[in-house]
Amino acid sequence: MLTVDEALARLLDGVRLADGEEVGLAAALGRVPAEPHVAAPIDVPPFANSAMDGYALRAADGGTPRRVVGESRAGGPRAAAVEPGTAVRIMTGAPMPDGTDTVVPIEEAEERAGMVTLATTPSPGAHRRPAGLDVRRGELVPLPRSPITPSGIGLLAAMGIARIEVRRRPRVAILSTGDELRDPGSSLGHGEIYDANAPALAAAVIEAGAEPIMLERARDEPDLIEARVREGADQADLLIVSGGVSVGDHDHVRGVIERLGALDFWRIAVQPGKPLAFGRVGETPVIGLPGNPVSALVTFELFVRPMLRAMVGLTGDGRLRVPVRVSEAISKDPARRAYLRVLVERDFDGYRGTSAGGQGSSQLLPLASANALLIVPEGVPATEPGRSYEALLLGGMT
Ligand code: AMP
Ligand code: MG
Repeated sequence: MLTVDEALARLLDGVRLADGEEVGLAAALGRVPAEPHVAAPIDVPPFANSAMDGYALRAADGGTPRRVVGESRAGGPRAAAVEPGTAVRIMTGAPMPDGTDTVVPIEEAEERAGMVTLATTPSPGAHRRPAGLDVRRGELVPLPRSPITPSGIGLLAAMGIARIEVRRRPRVAILSTGDELRDPGSSLGHGEIYDANAPALAAAVIEAGAEPIMLERARDEPDLIEARVREGADQADLLIVSGGVSVGDHDHVRGVIERLGALDFWRIAVQPGKPLAFGRVGETPVIGLPGNPVSALVTFELFVRPMLRAMVGLTGDGRLRVPVRVSEAISKDPARRAYLRVLVERDFDGYRGTSAGGQGSSQLLPLASANALLIVPEGVPATEPGRSYEALLLGGMT
């Protein structure tokens, strides 16, 4: 059996970086920049301006009263130049009039009959934001190799940049297989269940920053599966197949991948999700995930999500890991590293975790209520009450 880390290293080996594409700022949230930096086309701010509402003046004139000769407001007309002994009323963000170097806030000044008197002697340069304070024209502004945030979009907009080169979202074809599966919304006959994996995996693909392509579900018939796998491999950067990968009489996925391309079948020392099929059809990597929904989603988390991130130039799985103390014994398979579904809460001295429910690989409710996967190593049959384990946080804290 491979360890999780060995399997992941093999999956990441040979991942191809997606091409770049240009998008407008409105579509840039969460996308990954394809360039390491942008050259600032302008100074930000573009001109020296006031950080306060008040009076723009020359500090060199000291504390003497000044005659108010005009106004400078944000977006308003150019204000009169300031000569010795004069001042201009100024608003936040308005250009500093010629001849001024300092702003005295309105709270420290009093205007009467066209003259402004200052409460204190102005200190040179106070409340003046020079041009290029934030970014200088021509400067290489680093674009972190991470999904673009609202503040990143704000920074690009402030520089006047309307479009940005980002990695194309990987296209991920999703195929679920199984004679027993029906679409949610239809009725169930004898022995039938709803297809939980196709919608869940599509959602996980979107959450990982990629784009799902839904293939028509296939019954457990080699010809049907083969036709769908061809279709998926043609259209997508990665094909995920759920179900039909193990060794039962009606598990045809491995045979199909072997016929169309090349296949590795791995037993991974992980719970849930021991069997994983990985291969290629043409250039397209194909991953066969176990059919049990918890196994499918946890193996997606551990193996597919890092692949999708690697395709856009991100590293790791992007999840926070924290030490979490458990007070109960949760059983697991001693031969495998377990990813137990737990609820993590912040305690006064750290994080505390409790089992989110049954740990069976078909039990979706505990996974849906969990906010973390508790990582319990190989070699132990259960968690040890009072001990801490690393937990992979699936989202924010609730
Ligand atoms: P398999 O990997 O095809 O042997 O399936 C293992 C278990 O997962 C069986 O109980 C299947 O009914 C179930 N299963 C397979 N695919 C799905 C699916 N798309 N949605 C829900 N359960 C599934
Ligand atoms: Mg099946």
